[in-house]
Amino acid sequence: MSQLRNTKIRVGHLLDMNGFESEMKAKNETRARYKVLYRDGRRESTQLADRLWGCVENDVPCHSVACKSCCREFRLALVEELVTFISDLPKGVEYYMVTVALYDQVTDRCLDVNTQKIKDRYRKMISRAGIQWPVFGVVEMDYCPERELWEPHIHMLVANTNDGTFETLLDRLKRSQQKAEGRPNARKHTINSREVIDPKEAISYVFKFMWQLLPLNKGWKKGRLPQLQNSNHLLYQDKLSFSKLMLLHKARIEGGRLKIKCP
Ligand SMILES: [Zn+2]
Repeated sequence: MSQLRNTKIRVGHLLDMNGFESEMKAKNETRARYKVLYRDGRRESTQLADRLWGCVENDVPCHSVACKSCCREFRLALVEELVTFISDLPKGVEYYMVTVALYDQVTDRCLDVNTQKIKDRYRKMISRAGIQWPVFGVVEMDYCPERELWEPHIHMLVANTNDGTFETLLDRLKRSQQKAEGRPNARKHTINSREVIDPKEAISYVFKFMWQLLPLNKGWKKGRLPQLQNSNHLLYQDKLSFSKLMLLHKARIEGGRLKIKCP
């Protein structure tokens, strides 16, 4: 995989990551989001804040993508199903984590990002590459504070069956990226492939549904979004659903459970 370094497609072996956030950590994050929304003062923000509060303090599940605690519940079920699936693959099928930056989708308004259009485009690319095993992915967004822009990207778990289809997909992704790299909003720096340690952490990383600050300048810390962007993106996330953010190929969500179709 060394030839894939220094491209903006990151590839790491799935069986190399570990860890999952605690219930307490998720609750504390939801409490922090409550404060951000409450401070914002807009009516829709306080309404969402109240739902998040009810969820963590009164045990009334809100099922919102903006709620870290509900997100953790959803992720727990998903991780369990995916870890079971990925630990029991036939010989010759190995899952990899691939991240694609969508420079042609960079925008100053997160509301403008059409997740359905993005998913349709990449699902088509996956199908045309001839990928036979299920793909599990998610559309995510980072916010660049210096340029005040949202940068959508996709994380996905893709099977390499050593029949050339995985390489075909990577080639197509790279080619689609090269076109996008010429755009004025593309970042100039390269992202190296990243080491992965165990399936729980890899799946947890792919399906974190957590949009973060990703500065150009190293002087800025990666992490929480500024107040207004944070409340705007929480309101936007609240309008979405976990399944709307997920890019699935040969798999679907049915009744909150993952239905997987193997070749
Ligand atoms: Zn909740």
